[in-house]
Amino acid sequence: MSYAVETKKRKFDRILEALTDSAASPAGSPSRSSLISHNNTSTPSLTQDTASDSSKRRRIAPTTTATNPAASSSNDLTGHYLPSSRPAFLQRLETYRYVTKWHVPSTDPINAAAWAKRGWICVDTDTVACGACKERLYVDLSVDNEALRAKKQEGEAVNDEDAAEDDEDDFAISSEVYDNIVRRYQSMIVSAHAESCLWRKRGCDPSIQRIEGLLNTHLTLSGLRSRYDSLMSHPEEIPLVESLPTTTLVDPDELDQFQSNTGETTNINALRLAICGWERKTEDVIECRHCFRSLGLWLYRGDAPAISKLDAVENHLEYCPWRLAEAQDTEIQRPHGSRSTEEVVSHKERVPGWVLVYLAIAKNNRQRRPRPPASVTASEPASTKGSDESITSQQREKKMKDLLKRMKEIKKPFNVKGLLKRKEKAKT
Ligand SMILES: [Zn+2]
Ligand SMILES: [Zn+2]
Repeated sequence: MSYAVETKKRKFDRILEALTDSAASPAGSPSRSSLISHNNTSTPSLTQDTASDSSKRRRIAPTTTATNPAASSSNDLTGHYLPSSRPAFLQRLETYRYVTKWHVPSTDPINAAAWAKRGWICVDTDTVACGACKERLYVDLSVDNEALRAKKQEGEAVNDEDAAEDDEDDFAISSEVYDNIVRRYQSMIVSAHAESCLWRKRGCDPSIQRIEGLLNTHLTLSGLRSRYDSLMSHPEEIPLVESLPTTTLVDPDELDQFQSNTGETTNINALRLAICGWERKTEDVIECRHCFRSLGLWLYRGDAPAISKLDAVENHLEYCPWRLAEAQDTEIQRPHGSRSTEEVVSHKERVPGWVLVYLAIAKNNRQRRPRPPASVTASEPASTKGSDESITSQQREKKMKDLLKRMKEIKKPFNVKGLLKRKEKAKT
């Protein structure tokens, strides 16, 4: 083989590798559109989309080519009963990442996170298995035609005239059938385990999805910087990113003061992505390590991009803790909105992961800012004068102790007996 041919072949292999990797499809079909198919199935509600999708879906015989990628790694935790282990949970969840293999919408109550929380891993097309009891289950959400016809016949006696109404009925019936199927699988998440399987007795805590360390400013910022740096390894690939949603907790101006590792001017698009948990997977693909969504950046680039701006929050799957406050399950003390002193009642709120990163940036900004001199002078007279109005009982107690100590010290010289004794000693 000539040198030129060889390099061409290597190049081709690399492209193939990147494609299969980014499309996250072990069995091929590396079409770029497959990457966004997850997005399509993740419409916010269980409406026409999901129902018609599932009715269109054929019953696919499980193929034998697909294998579980985690099974080959040496520190594979998917086969063990480890309900409290976050790494084990994430390993199980990752098995559902292939959009060609797992078709259950992330909006459904029987989404990948629900199965993974009860020990299931995805081992084949819409097939889950338990590593502990080895049970297997094929999740078939196609609304069965016969079930549909039977349902329809029930209703036929009432209304059989209008064709347009028939269509509406069809839809209502099929979504009802779909809901029933979902409910059945919901109970099977527990009951499909073997009688003796520990996963049957207890699954993961609801907080298992939490991204750890986001209340620690230092940890959060170092994680943010490393994601930012990974994204900025190819700054030319970074697409336009939508502004982060503004809430009472979020002030976009804070982002201007973010300091990157290099000290260069911040790329606001990369920063928004990094705040929302995205990091680089390959040159052209970014991913989330908590819902395992991958995004091909080519969709957002060029003169006429397929999508003009990337939404860094909405592109996470519905159950992702970067996006969903319930999944992150972390409460923060909301700063008192109004300055009125009457509102002392603490207000706690659960927030998603990206808001916690955002708050860490804001906190760090505050700490770096020089203290306004006005507040220093204002607090000084209070401490010297000792106006007791604002001090707490703890402070008051300490003050009393200090005062008593000082009084004892003052008393010492006036201890007459002691003085006399000392004088007598001096005489002898
Ligand atoms: Zn089991
Ligand atoms: Zn995510």
